[in-house]
Amino acid sequence: MVKKEFKAESKRLLEMMVNSIYSQKEIFLRELISNSSDAIDKMYYKALTDDSISFEKDNYYIKVSADKENRILTITDTGIGMTKEDLENNLGIIAKSGSLTFKKENEAKDGHDIIGQFGVGFYSAFMVADKVTVVSRAVGSNEAYKWESEGAEGYTIEPVEKDSVGTEITLKIKENTEEETFDEYLEEYRLRGIIKKYSDFIRYPIKMDVTTSKPKEGSETEFEEFQEEQIINSMVPIWRKNKNELTTEDYENFYTEKHYGYDKPLTHLHLNVDGAVRYNAILFIPENIPFDYYSKEYEKGLELYSNGVLIMNKCSDLLPDYFSFVKGMVDSEDLSLNISREILQHDRQLKLIAKNIKNKIKSQLQNLLKDEREKYEKFYNSFGRQLKFGVYNDFGANKEDLKDLLMFYSSKEKKLVTLDEYVSRMPEDQKYIYYASGESNERIEKLPQTEIVGEKGYEILYFTDDIDEFAIKMLMNYKEKEFKSVSSGDLGIDEEDTQTQKDNEQSENRELLEYMKNILSSKVKDVRISKRLKTHPVCLSTDGEVTIEMEKILSAMPE
Ligand code: ADP
Ligand code: MG
Repeated sequence: MVKKEFKAESKRLLEMMVNSIYSQKEIFLRELISNSSDAIDKMYYKALTDDSISFEKDNYYIKVSADKENRILTITDTGIGMTKEDLENNLGIIAKSGSLTFKKENEAKDGHDIIGQFGVGFYSAFMVADKVTVVSRAVGSNEAYKWESEGAEGYTIEPVEKDSVGTEITLKIKENTEEETFDEYLEEYRLRGIIKKYSDFIRYPIKMDVTTSKPKEGSETEFEEFQEEQIINSMVPIWRKNKNELTTEDYENFYTEKHYGYDKPLTHLHLNVDGAVRYNAILFIPENIPFDYYSKEYEKGLELYSNGVLIMNKCSDLLPDYFSFVKGMVDSEDLSLNISREILQHDRQLKLIAKNIKNKIKSQLQNLLKDEREKYEKFYNSFGRQLKFGVYNDFGANKEDLKDLLMFYSSKEKKLVTLDEYVSRMPEDQKYIYYASGESNERIEKLPQTEIVGEKGYEILYFTDDIDEFAIKMLMNYKEKEFKSVSSGDLGIDEEDTQTQKDNEQSENRELLEYMKNILSSKVKDVRISKRLKTHPVCLSTDGEVTIEMEKILSAMPE
């Protein structure tokens, strides 16, 4: 039998995993159970399209058994199983190379367990085991294979006998060392605790032989111990539960269990909607920007369940682009399971759900802004850009939906303010909402153009994001107040008394101005005397709609 080597990346990941000190080694069990549950889901899905398979729910389960004496922990499932090729492809390489890169970049951050975060789940077994054996028989096949590995060295595959379809994973639990003990992963109460903590909502029974005792026959004082198979998990999915029964921790566990993110959610929404359309949903707004958020790999979408069964991993139609950061799931009885995924996309019910969800997210954000300002600002710093893109790509009601959620840095408040706050503070004689664009707040502060507006006592919004000015142009006004760049020609500030003086100076200096204009002829349209400068000798201003900053961005764009 030939020993095959793991692909290079897998090898490094394995070494890293085994040698690092993970805060929670216990999560290996969650990972293996999730894989089993996935495998049963796959079986269910296959049964829907394949008449030769019948899915009797009672025949599907996951079983965890511990043999303390031999230090063996076994996880068995009746899922779809793996062929020889599957074993090679799924357990021999790690497809998600992104996780390794990420780990390297974040090496310094402490206590983060990368496995839980990215679902390189299977390998986590090596944190507690020095040998892992997988025996599997795939549905529709009479052959079974055994995959075995002792870690980074490689793995072997050979044919074996197995009576039924499914997978059995055997872990040879490590011996205790001076620093660490592994005995706990063979203890009944401990295993039970881990299953409850992470896998309670798994929809299939997770069984375990549990030791209980009963009075000995014919005796009232003596007890005898016996083993009894029990179902450990409650199986009711969290989204079907009553909100009042659930704690923040429950939601956070769900978030982690589902691999929605490696952070903690900033806030969550639990929806039980029972109206024109019925659905349950749990939605999360992450605290941090997902590491791949601005990459091509990032896909928006929510998990879509039909009556408790997963039918789509990332249903993108459920979220508008400007809420693409939202994670979570939707379960509806009203969706038919048999319809194909293409048809589903045009499903009327789905559209209704999407619209409903969009409004719920919007009001959740509005509430956050109103009641938990700090949290909202945290959110806005991560995802505000997305909202601004939403306003900019306005094909309908977006901007109406989003304008109250926008925030910009204020020259007066020295922090983020909403447009509503700005407008409500405007002095009576102020006609416009003023803004200044630049690379950073510090740079904007130094712009000569901000002087006259600032001196008038008017507040200026600082636009430091490329998208800001474009978004505002789409909005045009807020509460009937138009936006005005501080570098535009006409600032709308009362300058009448100085107008004649300005005209005089203009003609007095005509020769000088003409001379300057000639020298700069290819660069500027006109050179004028300005009254708006206070401490700066010169500034640039624009007449039209497109400001200097916008021009910079536009000319930097690919043709
Ligand atoms: P992920 O679950 O994120 O895909 P894992 O490392 O946990 O990554 O598992 C890798 C792959 O191995 C799975 O996608 C699946 O195809 C296969 N696999 C693992 N465990 C099982 C199992 N119990 N039954 C069937 N396939 C499995
Ligand atoms: Mg997995």
